[in-house]
Amino acid sequence: MFNKLITISVLSLSVLLTANASINQTKGSFEDKFRQLDESLPTPNVYRNAAGEPGHKYWQQQVDYKIQAKLDESKRRIEASQTITYHNNSPDTLKYLWIQLDQNKFKSDSMSATTTTFGGIGNRGPATSAASSDKPAQLSLGALRRQQFVDDNILGYDISGVKNKRGESLNHVIVGTNMRIDLPTHLKPGKKVTFSLDFAFNIVEEDAVSARAGYEHFPNDKRDGGNDIFLLAQWFPRLHSYTDYEAWTNKEFIGRGEFTLEFGNYEVELTVPADHIVSSTGSLENANDVLTSKQRKRLKEAETAERIVFVVTAEEALENEKSGTNKTKTWKFKADNVRDFAWASSRKFMWDARGYKQDDKEQPLVMAMSFYPKEGGDLWKKYSTESIIHTIDVYNRFSFNYPYPVAQSVNGPVGGMEYPMITFNGPRTELQKDGSRTYSQAEKRFLIGVVIHEVGHIYFPMIVNSDERQWTWMDEGLNSFLDGVAGREWDPTIPWGVEPRDITDYMKSSIQVPIMTQSDSVLRLGPNAYTKPAAALNILRETILGRDLFDFAFKEYATRWKFKRPTPSDFFRTMEEASGVDLDWYWRGWFYSTDHVDISLDNIYKLRLDTKNPDIDFARQRQVELDKPLSLTDERNKAEGKKLWVDRFPDIKDFYDANDRFTVTNKERNKYHKFVNGLKPWEKAAFERAVKEDKNYYVLEFSNIGGLVMPIILELTFEDGSKENQYIPAEIWRRTSKAVNKLIITDKDKELVSVTVDPRWETADVNTHNNHFPRKMIESRIEAYKQKKSTKKVSQDLMQDIKTELDKETGKKEYLGK
Ligand SMILES: [Zn+2]
Repeated sequence: MFNKLITISVLSLSVLLTANASINQTKGSFEDKFRQLDESLPTPNVYRNAAGEPGHKYWQQQVDYKIQAKLDESKRRIEASQTITYHNNSPDTLKYLWIQLDQNKFKSDSMSATTTTFGGIGNRGPATSAASSDKPAQLSLGALRRQQFVDDNILGYDISGVKNKRGESLNHVIVGTNMRIDLPTHLKPGKKVTFSLDFAFNIVEEDAVSARAGYEHFPNDKRDGGNDIFLLAQWFPRLHSYTDYEAWTNKEFIGRGEFTLEFGNYEVELTVPADHIVSSTGSLENANDVLTSKQRKRLKEAETAERIVFVVTAEEALENEKSGTNKTKTWKFKADNVRDFAWASSRKFMWDARGYKQDDKEQPLVMAMSFYPKEGGDLWKKYSTESIIHTIDVYNRFSFNYPYPVAQSVNGPVGGMEYPMITFNGPRTELQKDGSRTYSQAEKRFLIGVVIHEVGHIYFPMIVNSDERQWTWMDEGLNSFLDGVAGREWDPTIPWGVEPRDITDYMKSSIQVPIMTQSDSVLRLGPNAYTKPAAALNILRETILGRDLFDFAFKEYATRWKFKRPTPSDFFRTMEEASGVDLDWYWRGWFYSTDHVDISLDNIYKLRLDTKNPDIDFARQRQVELDKPLSLTDERNKAEGKKLWVDRFPDIKDFYDANDRFTVTNKERNKYHKFVNGLKPWEKAAFERAVKEDKNYYVLEFSNIGGLVMPIILELTFEDGSKENQYIPAEIWRRTSKAVNKLIITDKDKELVSVTVDPRWETADVNTHNNHFPRKMIESRIEAYKQKKSTKKVSQDLMQDIKTELDKETGKKEYLGK
């Protein structure tokens, strides 16, 4: 809460005008930080209106898939056929369809592979070129492994049998990660077309190429040849989106910008080794064929259980992973109104489940389920499914009820990735020498955090279907903000990375681009697409709008765009429309610029109102002169006992030795009376009251060093020890964004002793030292250190080193693994 101290009235008093109010005005470098954003946003239309809502002619395409896929475990290969039905709901006639072939990204001649830079900004590998020094440039072993994997394996899709419903071949052209299929008969608005194709690809080893899916090999398992966990995502040819704002969103998949997709209905049959357990998008349609009666009974039990129930126990999974089988089973899944489909398969999985009940007619029960190998161990048993349920609990409150029958968390080689109804999460336990498995606090926090984050993605962007190929922040930023809300309701001691203070170092750095930058061109993706927008939304909620307005507007955005396709302008417009607050300046500053927040309180002037009465004012002015330090020469002359000439010869004194410029004359008094009598009655009343009250007038001089305009939040400390807070909206900067002055008036006995700007660090101000007036000493640390000897080769004592014995134990030790 903030109490307004005193409202500033218009005072036509000369004393205020003489205060140092020098504001660098605007000529030449004027920047309108409050310029309306509509000039930059797309023009509203019948598809997306000016309120940020789907317009009255909003449309989106629908694509339905029927897929039969077989996992060849020994070849680590997928072979599949699919039938696609494309519904053209657009007002346009389509001559061709564009399809995403994400697996082609792994080809050695892909745009992704051929444009990888060495040691540049945004390069994942820790490579630095240092030809100018005696240090070698660096290439990580991971980068070498990736290179070798791509060389050794044939990657990318084999596509065949692209046919229409009548079995006629369709002309198609592959362009990198995209494929165009030409339609012999143009697809009119409101019509649909069905076609089929076969595809196959070799699954990548996730640890080698760090993709979003792939297999992970466990060579130390008891089974001969070990076991694998297979994560299958971005695995089937998927239709590109066709939209009202960009038509085909067929931008090459380089790796960073994920994807944007159409909603549709899926029927998928997955044939896998008979001893595998499958976790998948959708509901399992043939439990009787693939699960034992015991497993089905446990699953039923889990629906109403208070805590997790194991469908496959740790012991059963351990037994399962010891051997293999040549037999197969086909798992059938059905998923309605999803934008994608992913799955996981392994004989290593244990499986736990617990039902989540929600007040929802269509989806009263959601099964939260986790799948993990022994390597996930107790960490997963304890926290994975619980984290899923907590996420749904919080996200439902901020958006809409979870609309799908299952929400799953699968442990595999991917650090964290989301698909409809299913997420892949990486944290594990560590195998110790005594055979036990333990986990660190960091790994525990990582698991809880990543499950919340990835399950949160099932809402954003799997349901609120933003375009990830273009705008990473729309799903990562919004979701990081909300996972921070959910996370802090779980354990506030975990650093969730959404506090204003978490983003200050990044915001003052020079390696950054605006949030509104296409995904693949973003520098430093983490702070740019996750932390900065999340912190910006956090500030919007806690500081700018307040929780009530923010939560209402955010929920409005989520529900407006549930199962629809929002763009950035839809988000910006909805947040303003629903909150009733003009936020154009906020979007401009935080999302369209690289400015940072640094508001400095440069000076405070303490002013006293002139009474205009010479009998009062002149004495005050004389006192001001007397209070100034004496001239050193005069002071030392006095100390030495030097007498002034006029004191030695007083007879030569005259009128001016007894009077100075502060001597009051009737001329001055007449002038004063003339002033008072010349005032209109209301002017006189205001003036006389002000003179009588003799309040303190403080002028606070602020400069905006960072460029980003933000509210000025003040903590005022008074001589009597009391404190007051004042909130000045960002609009104070609307005419002069670089410097502003603020007048604060207090009662005579309420003297200001110090002021702090943003005392609770809620605006992401990057420099808090200049927030204090008077300034504070900057407290820091200093370390005494011992100088190290040079470790250069020249100092090696080869004559001594050659005598070293070979350490047989060290040579034998093997990596225990996770
Ligand atoms: Zn994410």
